Amino acid sequence: MIQIEVVAALIVRRGRFFAAQRGHEKSHAGQWEFPGGKIEQGETPEEALMRELSEELDLASHPVAFVTTKETHDPDRVIRVHLYRVLLEDDAYHLKEHQAAGWFTPKEADQLTWTEADRDFLPFVKAEVEQNRSVYAALPSDFDKLPTHTSGGHIFKGIQWTWTYSDEQFAFGHKARMLVETAFDTTPIRIAETRHADDGTTRIIYELSDGARVETIHMPRDVKSPRVTLCLSSQVGCAMKCAFCATATLGLKRNLTAGEIVQEVLWALRAFGPHKTHAVNLVFMGMGEALMNYDNVVRAIAVLSQMEGLNIAPVRMTLSTSGVLDKLERLRDEKIRPNIAVSMNATTDEVRQKLMPITQRYGLEAIHDCLRRWPYRSHEKILLEYVLLRGLNDSEADAHRLAAFAKDLPHNINIIPYNPTPHLEFEAPSCEQIQKFIKIMQDEGCLVTLREARGVNVGGACGQLLAK
Ligand code: SAH
Repeated sequence: MIQIEVVAALIVRRGRFFAAQRGHEKSHAGQWEFPGGKIEQGETPEEALMRELSEELDLASHPVAFVTTKETHDPDRVIRVHLYRVLLEDDAYHLKEHQAAGWFTPKEADQLTWTEADRDFLPFVKAEVEQNRSVYAALPSDFDKLPTHTSGGHIFKGIQWTWTYSDEQFAFGHKARMLVETAFDTTPIRIAETRHADDGTTRIIYELSDGARVETIHMPRDVKSPRVTLCLSSQVGCAMKCAFCATATLGLKRNLTAGEIVQEVLWALRAFGPHKTHAVNLVFMGMGEALMNYDNVVRAIAVLSQMEGLNIAPVRMTLSTSGVLDKLERLRDEKIRPNIAVSMNATTDEVRQKLMPITQRYGLEAIHDCLRRWPYRSHEKILLEYVLLRGLNDSEADAHRLAAFAKDLPHNINIIPYNPTPHLEFEAPSCEQIQKFIKIMQDEGCLVTLREARGVNVGGACGQLLAK
């Protein structure tokens, strides 16, 4: 059995990687090796690798981070690979990036012919690429690890304050920018379409890097001091199958990443303001069930509330859920916790089950119990959303039951008259019926608010989001 020592370098950028390796043996490296590379006399494999990186890619680069040593096995030999991650110090390679020199996505790499030993190595390379996560999901402490004097907080602010960019370029120095672009995926999501409604609401459709589309709704409110509420999506489509909601008809395509959720806010504010973020409220009420994408939503909230960045306080964020109680129980204990809204939409399990299948798992009594034990902050209220559907959940008895549900909770009952959605046969009650429904609960001492439908004429109101 032959033992071979190899050094390898891995450069990851924007979800693509470039890998190179040099060993004492002749090439064993499959197709991701530089063509014609040799170790010259007196050179160590490390030196040969670095010399070739700079010759082939025209890089002034050096291995700054030893990652690991890993053994892979061919039938007749053991190859021990020492892997370094290379940070780039200049951007000369931009020119060559897309040449045949060998930048691959992990998916493309799968299609290549590999030696058996190299194929062993591939999952490991993939993990490194995936770990190269979006710059928009990173916290100041993540940037502190970069070998530069620029502080992590400064880099973070330069990334989050998109309106300080010049031509899509981060607002901090050249060297730090190169390091950031090497260590993180900087691919932005793209505003594909915007539609302005008469009431000042803007419906923003984003296209993600894989072509998927989601919506963000920008809603300015001209009260004493102008405020903007952004309604964010958390998933492409939704799995909850609520009968009255257009997003449900899409099914679930995938979760949004934390970086994508953060960017919904960043690019909306860059395009439509405000840049004073104390005047921004966030609601997780767009496409998707936020609690079914728990980790990414919680991470996005952490990023968006960072003092060095947008500094949007968690008390100005509201997460709406159809009632995924196991996840809600987890959220109770988070250090950074948004306000909560629960979509009630019925007052008996029997009716709710027909409208919202999640009721089979968590009934109204369990929801009530969870909300009674909720660790409310001072002034915090639970928002109880109630979509009014004519003839289904709008009776006087419903109003009394809803009031009874709310009474022992610090609540705000938010009535949402049904907004029409394509192919669905529901109707909203008449204005008088709605007022009567509200009055019954007010007479019982409840706080009731009526949600104004915004963006209806561009398809941007509650339950209408299809990203089409
Ligand atoms: N998944 C989250 C967010 C949904 S959208 C949740 O279930 O809470 C926010 C609100 O819009 C929810 O209360 C939902 O019940 C409501 N909604 C859905 N479809 C609607 C429609 N067609 N008309 C009015 N409100 C609707």
